[in-house]
Amino acid sequence: MVKSKPSQSPFSGYPVYKLFLILIYLIVLVEAVTVSGSDSPSPYAWPSHASKKLNKPVVLLISSDGFRFGYQFKTETPNIDLLISRGTEAQTGLIPVFPTMTFPNHYSIATGLYPAYHGIIMNKFTDPITGEFYNKNLDPKWWLGEPLWVTAVNQGLKAATVYWPGSEVPKGSWTCPTGFCKAPYNVSFPLEERVDTILSYFDLPESEIPDFMTLYLDEPDIQGHKYGPDDPRITEAVAKVDKMIGRVIKGLKKRKVFSDVHVILLGDHGMVTNCDKKVIYIDDLADWIKVPVDWIQAYFPVLAINPRWGKDVENPDEKNMELVAKMNEALSSGKVENGEFLKVYFKEKLPKRLHYSESSRIPPIIGMVGEGLMVKQNRTNVQECFGNHGYDNMFFSMRSIFIGHGPRFRRGKKVPSFENVQVYNVVVEILGLRPAPNNGSSLFTQSILLPFGATRET
Ligand SMILES: [Zn+2]
Repeated sequence: MVKSKPSQSPFSGYPVYKLFLILIYLIVLVEAVTVSGSDSPSPYAWPSHASKKLNKPVVLLISSDGFRFGYQFKTETPNIDLLISRGTEAQTGLIPVFPTMTFPNHYSIATGLYPAYHGIIMNKFTDPITGEFYNKNLDPKWWLGEPLWVTAVNQGLKAATVYWPGSEVPKGSWTCPTGFCKAPYNVSFPLEERVDTILSYFDLPESEIPDFMTLYLDEPDIQGHKYGPDDPRITEAVAKVDKMIGRVIKGLKKRKVFSDVHVILLGDHGMVTNCDKKVIYIDDLADWIKVPVDWIQAYFPVLAINPRWGKDVENPDEKNMELVAKMNEALSSGKVENGEFLKVYFKEKLPKRLHYSESSRIPPIIGMVGEGLMVKQNRTNVQECFGNHGYDNMFFSMRSIFIGHGPRFRRGKKVPSFENVQVYNVVVEILGLRPAPNNGSSLFTQSILLPFGATRET
């Protein structure tokens, strides 16, 4: 028997197809360990702090516009669920500020200030004193307070914004720098590319990685306005947002920083249908009082009236009082269709919980409109059925979500609902910054964050 020659390789003589199978197996194994699968979370794909790369706190603040609390139960949301199960959640949602509109709320989240103090009192308004019209203008004079990106760069940190209302406005040391401040806002810029822009920052040397980042997603607000909150197209939009969150998680995991980054996912407000077609017509009040059309700055979800009495009127305050009294008399008379769903106030007499009086930009007379109702001048307008927000922040339908994930957030923790003006201090505390004056509570951060330096339970 001829002894065979010693093999040069341990695989010599192995059938080629078996080698090929081993190779495929190894590739799959390596892929599973490094990328950890797909957008869907795997309980085995979370290597805790073993892969720690970042040696500084980093916050990624994500807004999903119009993500009403409860949307997360409409469909499978495995990626949002992962953030919830391994992070801290406002159990019954995040409470927006009044008015529950996009610009006032995003800027309250960024500054910790109520709209009366940060100046963006509605999405569009006319300053009653100067007569100047604000419509999402970028002139810094409109944007009061100190948003997070300014707080960060003023104190020597780096910030980057992939959209956020107010982020394009130069302020303090923040110049909205090219490459780190997406501008101008473009609704058509795909959500995937927005996520990828954020992820690309994590490919920079650590000292160059922005400490604070914002990511703004327009959905499901767009579909919500078009079709109302109960339409199947909302469900699709929610699934799309979840997919984007999955893209964020996957990208961070790929770069081995997912467990190091503080990801805060929230929304600015909820959404309610007005398909009941309940409308209050201002002309129906004519038997009590006539309100000139050009005094009405906004009809709904907030009725805003800026009376402009002629020079012959000696006491405009008295006339204003008469206007409010007559309007409320009409609305409560039982003779005005849906009148019981509108109440008119001097702004100083609005419920204190709304924090909506301390600004000369707020018109003197404000009407609080019932949930989902519309206010129109007369019956000549076409009645449409759609979704809306902007109503009293007391309505549960106006609530959004808050989820915090990362080293300073406890796993699986639920906290009671809170107002979004608290978010500013939370981010500032994580980043180790000095907060600018704001309406949040410095004590709030203790209720939601682990102490600095604490070891996160695994
Ligand atoms: Zn919005």
